[in-house]
Amino acid sequence: MLNIVLFGPPGAGKGTQADRLKEQYDLVHISTGDVFRALDPSSDLAKLAKSYSDKGDLVPDDITIKILESEVTKYPNAKGVIYDGFPRTTGQAKALDLFLAAKGTSVTMMLSLIVPEDELKTRLIGRAKDSGREDDANPVIIQNRINTYNKSTAPVADYYKGQGKLIDINGVGSIGDITKSLFDSIEITK
Ligand code: AMP
Repeated sequence: MLNIVLFGPPGAGKGTQADRLKEQYDLVHISTGDVFRALDPSSDLAKLAKSYSDKGDLVPDDITIKILESEVTKYPNAKGVIYDGFPRTTGQAKALDLFLAAKGTSVTMMLSLIVPEDELKTRLIGRAKDSGREDDANPVIIQNRINTYNKSTAPVADYYKGQGKLIDINGVGSIGDITKSLFDSIEITK
């Protein structure tokens, strides 16, 4: 199985690139942010998740890990999975390792999109018009999402680096050029 963790701060282009990787390699694309947004808004779980995401905070690990595992379980015949926006803490990364090991597989690689903070802010504000996401439109929430990334999520890259699985990708440039860098890294590593 090709299990790719597509990593990077909010606004790095993970969703855009995940669509292209999915097409090219016939993978299942799982974005925990999308899964949270697709929950029935009247459910307790959706309300709980929204109470964190509205502020730009992370949803607690226990809830997020359960959601992720139940999503992966929906695709027993997947050739591989792109994990987009998960894991976002080392606790989630460890849980993913255990979950995949129990299925006889493992994370193949982490592809980490590197984009400077100023560029992220510009992109998120621009994206808000199309995404309709409140957490993209408000500069205070954007800053909190970036701070949360730096504090809680960036260390996940070190976790995979320790396993020899981290590949940094320049996330600035044309979408096509970044896709090509991702494809090249996958071809060399898989
Ligand atoms: P995203 O669409 O990836 O930007 O995620 C939107 C929001 O969903 C985040 O700001 C978090 O509140 C929540 N979220 C998504 N994925 C995770 C995760 N792996 N761990 C915790 N919270 C998450």
